Amino acid sequence: MEETYSAFNQAQREFDKVAEMMKLDPSYREVLREPVRSLLVNVPVRMDSGTIKTFPGYRVQHNTACGPAKGGVRFSTDVTLDEVQALAMWMTWKCSLAGIPFGGGKGGINVDVHDLSEGELERLSRRYFSEIQSIVGPEKDIPAPDMNTDARIMAWFMDTYSMNTGNTTLGVVTGKPLELGGSLGRDAATGRGVEISALNILGKKGVDPKKARVVIQGFGNVGAWAAKLLHDDGCKIIGLSDVYGAVYNPKGLNPYDAVERAMKPEDSVSKLLPGDKITNDELLALECEVLAPCALQNQLTGKNAAKVRAKIIVEGANGPTTPEADQDFFERRITVAPDFLANAGGVIVSYFEWVQGLAFFFWTEREVNNKLATLMNQNIDKVYALAEEKNISMRDAAYVFAIKRVADAVRLRGIYP
Ligand code: GLU
Repeated sequence: MEETYSAFNQAQREFDKVAEMMKLDPSYREVLREPVRSLLVNVPVRMDSGTIKTFPGYRVQHNTACGPAKGGVRFSTDVTLDEVQALAMWMTWKCSLAGIPFGGGKGGINVDVHDLSEGELERLSRRYFSEIQSIVGPEKDIPAPDMNTDARIMAWFMDTYSMNTGNTTLGVVTGKPLELGGSLGRDAATGRGVEISALNILGKKGVDPKKARVVIQGFGNVGAWAAKLLHDDGCKIIGLSDVYGAVYNPKGLNPYDAVERAMKPEDSVSKLLPGDKITNDELLALECEVLAPCALQNQLTGKNAAKVRAKIIVEGANGPTTPEADQDFFERRITVAPDFLANAGGVIVSYFEWVQGLAFFFWTEREVNNKLATLMNQNIDKVYALAEEKNISMRDAAYVFAIKRVADAVRLRGIYP
């Protein structure tokens, strides 16, 4: 019988492996492998028809030793407590490795947003935020966009919190519209981080970006920005996909031809862009210099890893590679820039947005992008160097840095009381 996939189990297995390697004190291991707080809420929404529907929602804080919890909220029919716990744990490592003063959190609602009208979506968002209000706040836990959530929803979150408290509080969410204290560069930031990671590692391997063939799975915020930016750098984007299909063109695809698309099958990148229609499995198996999975977790698994012919994998999604696939890639010397390193651009610029909001002083886009590139390149360099030195994967090297900082913070703070 096939084992059902558990993202949280994957996150814990990744942690256990490195905690063992680091000989981390077992009592700290126990603290770090579980979330400190998991909240389940049931969110009732009056639908346009007049009936009331209830949706399960979650907010999980994995660890807050280094600062307030930080992490996105996703709206998807895949959302479960298991998934949110895994994503919250990965946020802890992402913020720790990035060197920003946050712990890890994540939230979500199990809902199909395509079934909702604008009004229903707004009522769902506002009621969810009201339900989790007691555990969020600019110094407690700061949500942000994730899958199927965007700046508009962050504005509703911020307004709901502000109405309930009576103060306009910019710092309670990030990824807000520019008019409401958002940061320049935030929308592109996660995709830009994927671009920075790909260019950095191509450079280390001595590959000219203009000769690099790139395949990107997913054309949401992360995948679309990564595709546009790498295309601007002169890379040849030979494969792209979205939920409706995938397309391959050895001559190169222009992602700009698909940016104005709507979320419907007729507007899939596989329909809008010229090339061969291929399956998702064929996309992941294309021969290329860079493969960037920017969709969902559990995409590169023990089943399809052996077919992957990329030289470098840059994880734009959270958790796209299972431990079995990771082992295969390590043995075949495929370099994997792990999710919590490569997709940290979003939360890094969220940190910049939070700082700007608290200071009421806003930076130029160039300042934001330069600070992001400096921080990401520093982190990639140190992780790559440790991986080379110890002959371990970049994921394990990244975990060493990330776990050490959080474990040190827990130790220094002590266990209360
Ligand atoms: N949802 C993004 C992530 O997974 C961004 C989180 C944030 O900005 O807090 O990293």
